[in-house]
Order: sequence, then C-alpha cells, then structure tokens
Amino acid sequence: MQLYPLFADLSGRPVLVVGGGDVAARKASMLLRAGATVTVGAPVLGPELRELVQQGRVAYRDGAYQPGWQDGTWLVVAATRSRPLNSRIAADGHARQRLVNVVDDPALSSFQVPAVIDRSPLLVAISSSGVAPVLARRLRERIESLIDPALGSLLQLAQRYRARIRARYADLGTRRRFYDWLHDGPVNASLRASQPLHAEQQLVAALARHDESKPQGSVALVGAGPGDPGLLTLHALRALNEADVILHDELISPQVLDLARRDAVQIAVGKRGGGTHTPQETIHALLLEHAQAGRRVVRLKGGDPFVFGRGGEELAFLREHGIACEVVPGITAALACAAYSGVPLTHRDHAQSVRLVTAHCQQSLDTLDWADLARERQTLAVYMGVAKLEEITRQLVAHGRSASTPFALVENGSLPTQRTLVGTLGELPALATRHAVRAPALLILGEVAAQAESSHWYGELLGAVAAKAPALANAA
Ligand code: SAH
Repeated sequence: MQLYPLFADLSGRPVLVVGGGDVAARKASMLLRAGATVTVGAPVLGPELRELVQQGRVAYRDGAYQPGWQDGTWLVVAATRSRPLNSRIAADGHARQRLVNVVDDPALSSFQVPAVIDRSPLLVAISSSGVAPVLARRLRERIESLIDPALGSLLQLAQRYRARIRARYADLGTRRRFYDWLHDGPVNASLRASQPLHAEQQLVAALARHDESKPQGSVALVGAGPGDPGLLTLHALRALNEADVILHDELISPQVLDLARRDAVQIAVGKRGGGTHTPQETIHALLLEHAQAGRRVVRLKGGDPFVFGRGGEELAFLREHGIACEVVPGITAALACAAYSGVPLTHRDHAQSVRLVTAHCQQSLDTLDWADLARERQTLAVYMGVAKLEEITRQLVAHGRSASTPFALVENGSLPTQRTLVGTLGELPALATRHAVRAPALLILGEVAAQAESSHWYGELLGAVAAKAPALANAA
C-alpha cells in the first residue's frame, strides 16, 4: 500500500489554501463542504473566491505567501501556478508536520485527494496513488452509475434509527440480516420511489413486529431495451446488479443478461422457441413467490415494460398483494428501430403523430380502426407484425393509404444482426418474403420512412436501389 487511506473530520478546523484561481476555488469549496474553516491566501483572487470571501464563507490573506500563514492550520493545499512557490509551501508544511497537498503534484504532496462518490453519509473514495488520476476518475464514473442514488437517504434513516435497531436486534447476526433487509427490501424501494415517509413507517413497523419471520422482498419491472446493452438505463443496470432473481423474456439478449449479478438466479419465462408461452398466471405466481421469500426480483422485459409488455397487469397484481414495486422504463422497439435505421418518427412537414400498433393476432387486427390508421401524415410503428404483413398491407390500401407509401422494416433492431428493409407499401409482403424477414421486426410506415435510404447508418440495408459500391481492395 503506497498511501494510507484516511477520512478526515475537518469540521471547524482551520485549513489553508494558497492560490487565487479557479483550482484554488474548487479546493476551497470542497473543504467548505466538509465543514472546514477555510483561509485563502493570494495576491489576487479570481471571481469565485472573491464571492466566497464577500459572503464571509472564506477568510482572506492578501498578498505574497508567507510561511506564518500555516500557523494553527491542520491542512495546507498549494494551488498556485508556480512550481517553485508550491515547492516552498510544501517544504514549509513538511517542516511543521502539516499534511500538504500540492494540486496535481504527488511528488510534493504528503496527502492526496481521491476521486469521490458522495452519497453522504456514504463516501466512496478512489485513488490511483497519484499514478493515473484520469483512470481513477473514469472508475469513479462507473461506480457512480452503479450506486443507488437513494443510498444516502437510506443511510441517513439508518443513522437516526441506529440505537433502536441495536436495541431491537441485540444479536449481531440478526442485526446484520435486518440491515440486509433494509437495503434489499421495501424500505429502500420506497426511498427510490421518493416516498421517504412511507419508508420510515415501514422501518418503524418492522421494528415493532415481534416475530422474526423473514420480511418481504421487492420487484422491479425493468425495461431492457431492444437488445444493445448500451441502451439500458442506469437504473436498469443497477437493478440487474442487485437482483437475487431475474425473470426474463426469451427475447432478452445474452449481452444484457451478462450484466446481471453473477450469482443471480435467471429464469426464462415468456415465449419459447417452439412458440409456447409461460402463462401469465405462472409468471405472476413466480414473482409473488420470490418476493414473498424476501428476494429482490427483477422482471426483465424487452423494450419498455409498459409498451405491449403486460407490465401493467404485473404491476397491478403485485400491488394488490402488497409487494413493493418499482418500474424502470426502457427504450421501446419503435424508438430504437427508428433511431438505428435513420428514420425520424415525426417530421414537421410529413408526420405530426406516431401510432404504436400491435398486430399480434387476428383478434387485434380485427379490432383496429383501419380507416384511422390509413390516414396520411402520421407514422405507424407496428409491433409483432411480421406474420401479418399481407393483411396489414391489404387493409391499409383498402382504407385509402397509398401503395406508394414508404416503409422501413427493421429486423433485430440495435443488434449486430440488424437488417433494414425499405420499399413501398405495395411491395411490402413480397419484399419481406424475398428477404426472409423474421421476428423480432418492427414495421415503420409513413412518409418519414423514405429517409432510411439516405440516413440509414447501422447494419445492413436491403431493398434500396443499390448504391454503387466502391471496389474493395484485393487481399494482397
Ligand atoms: N415491450 C417491447 C415490445 C414487446 S412486443 C418494447 O417496448 O419494445 C415484441 C415485438 O417488439 C416484436 O415482435 C417486435 O415487433 C418488437 N421488437 C422488440 N425488439 C425488437 C428489436 N430488437 N428489433 C425489432 N423489433 C423488435
């Protein structure tokens, strides 16, 4: 270990920052946040420090640096632009046994300031021992994205109830289990849902309960997006990292599942290769069973859970049974396929609205208002329509949509295997058959789809008037 990690309590303790520029200002602000009594010394101050001095938050020593400024301080930060001066400040500090940090100069420093993630009272600090501060910052960003923003509130709550928790669970083992429950169960779920009062009530109720029965877990309905793991939200990533059990649709890509906690139990539900479904009641029962056993359950669905995903039914069912739930939206196929095929879903001149439509089964086709869907100047995004292209085309044309309306049919949108087929409505079924387009594919129909031919940028483009490909160099 090159450095000794240290969390210093500076509240009310005098510290000195030498320098008047914005680096010195940043250091002073950080020290103020930790409650230190900050004095800044410099011949001139930049606007930020001048403001802090005017507000009386920082004391000011005007003029050239003098060693006497260090008297009575606990820490010294040298943030001047001159290395010789910084070096002198450091030498004076070392002689007085002060802890000295010279900004960006580990060789002159006796302490360094780590990259921090602040979820006070939780602090995560990262140091590369001065070797590669940029890498430490990159790591900080990654860890930051994995730490629940509600964790600070959870710790504050735990801090207030610490004595009562200790009294209620005198035994260390049961106390540890209680803290696990606090983190994994409904209290934290309520905090994430911005319901702090409810969270506190749940904590109080748990402390008042007399039996030691295992408290309930929680369920997150999480949208996994269309397949590209880069399209997951930070909340989705965090939920996957914290899950005990993941119930996922068959369509979820392995790359997304790879991001889940290694020891999470993964259960595939939904459509199998052969076309059989896990009945919705079975999924409900599984969700309930695992949540009631105190586990953190993630119900992972393709795209968005509330767009043709039955997420609404699952949420209602779980709420009826008193299970703590959260819903994490995902990027739905229509948005992803449009973006990845270069088609804007709306356009000030050509499309003032977008309709998300499902063509799942005969029943849903029969109940659609075709006359309405056939109207011009709107974009249709048709889900689950590959097997029904013939009928969709027939109905739209019969109800007045022109056979020359452009379409883009996007197969495996956002995945490396993406193919985008373009053409006009009249030739849609024949083209799709010729290119053997298979589910999952999303049909975008409307004037805007014409843009795919020129704006397409991802995967393969089919059906367009083939642009002249430049000759490839022969392998030498
Ligand atoms: N909840 C999902 C939709 C589930 S219905 C969402 O919000 O996206 C399943 C249908 O979504 C598929 O039949 C297909 O039409 C569409 N779909 C899902 N993922 C897709 C993808 N990667 N590329 C193209 N279409 C996709």
